Amino acid sequence: MAAFPLPPGSVIGILGGGQLGRMLAQAAARLGFDVAILDPEPDGPAARVAAHSIVGAYDDPDALKALADLADVITYEFENVPAGAVERLLSMGVEVAPGLQALQVAQDRGNEKSFLNGHGVPTVGYTVAIGPGEAVESARRVGVPCLMKTMREGYDGKGQRWIEHPDEAFQAFQDLGGVPVILEEAADFVRELSVIAARGRGGEIAVYPLGENHHEKGILRRTLAPAQVSPQLAGQAERIAIRILEGLTYVGVIGIELFEMRDGGLLANEFAPRVHNTGHWTQDGCEVDQFEQHIRAVAGWPLGPTAPIARVEMLNLLGDEAEGWKRFAAEPETRIHLYGKHKAKPGRKMGHVNKVKPLR
Ligand code: AMP
Repeated sequence: MAAFPLPPGSVIGILGGGQLGRMLAQAAARLGFDVAILDPEPDGPAARVAAHSIVGAYDDPDALKALADLADVITYEFENVPAGAVERLLSMGVEVAPGLQALQVAQDRGNEKSFLNGHGVPTVGYTVAIGPGEAVESARRVGVPCLMKTMREGYDGKGQRWIEHPDEAFQAFQDLGGVPVILEEAADFVRELSVIAARGRGGEIAVYPLGENHHEKGILRRTLAPAQVSPQLAGQAERIAIRILEGLTYVGVIGIELFEMRDGGLLANEFAPRVHNTGHWTQDGCEVDQFEQHIRAVAGWPLGPTAPIARVEMLNLLGDEAEGWKRFAAEPETRIHLYGKHKAKPGRKMGHVNKVKPLR
C-alpha cells in the first residue's frame, strides 16, 4: 500500500485512455509523476503522452494485474469502467480514487437520483421502468412530456427519447434496447450550469466558479465561465457539491450538471465522477485547473486554488472543426487543446479551444 502524499516519481494508473486521460497525464507529468494507462485500444490520446501503456479490456485480469503492479494509486477517466474491475484492483491492495461507491452510484441513473435526493440535493421527479408496459404506466405517472433515458451507459444525449404521449413509451422502450429506463419530468430550465469541485484525501473541498453550458444535439458545444450568477446561486451550487462529495467520501474532481429553474432554484441533473468537459475552461481560466486538481487529490497533495484568472469561452471542436487549427493559432486570445485523435467522425470530440479574456 502506497504512503500518501505520493512523492514525485510515483506512478498514477488511469483506467481509460481518451482525451480526459491525456490531459490528466499531462498534468501529472508536470507534477513529476509517471502515468500508466489501461485502455482496450492501442495508440489512444492518453497512451501517446503516458510513460506506460497497457492494452487490454477493463475486465481482463492480466491487464488489471499489470496496472496494479505499476501504479501507486489508480483513478478513472470515464464512468463506465466495470465496477468489477475496480473491485479486482482493490482486492490487489491498490487504492482507487474516486472510490467504488462513486462509480456505482454514477453508473445507474436510478441510484444516482435516489442518492442525490437522499442527500438533500433536489432533482426532477422521476420513475423507473424495467418493461415496456411499466414504461407506459411510468410515463402516465410522471406526466408528459417526459424524457426516457436508459438506466446505464448513456452519454452525450445517447440513449434518450422524449415522450409526448404515454402510449409512445412502449415503442420508445423497445427502441432504446429493451433495457431498464428512467423517465424524468421535463425540466423547464432557464439555463444549464455546472459546478466542478474537488475533495482531497483529508476531506478538504475546493469548488470552482460555475460554468454556463450550451448543448447541441445532446453534445456540449460551449461553456462560458465564470457564469454570471448571484452569490445566492453560487452558494446553492457549492452546497450541492459539498453534499455529494461528502456523501460519497469522495477523493478527486467531480463534475455536476445543474438546471437553473425559473424560481432561481437549482436541480441536479447528473454528476460524473471524474474531470468533466464543462471544466476544460479551468485550464486557461483558473489558477490550478481541474486536471492538476484531480491529480493533487488522488496523490494526497494539498488542493490548489480555484480562483478565476480570466473569463473563458470554451468551444468544443467536433468532427472536422479541428482542421481550423491554423485560424485558431492566429488568434491571440485563443488557447488550443487538441487530442491527437486520428479519425474525425461527425460529432466526435477532437479538441477544444479556450477563448480567454483576462479579468480586470
Ligand atoms: P444527460 O445525458 O442527462 O446529461 O442529458 C443531456 C441533455 O439533455 C442535458 O444537458 C439537457 O439539455 C437535456 N436534459 C436531460 N434531462 C432533462 C430533463 N429532465 N428535462 C429537460 N431536459 C433534460
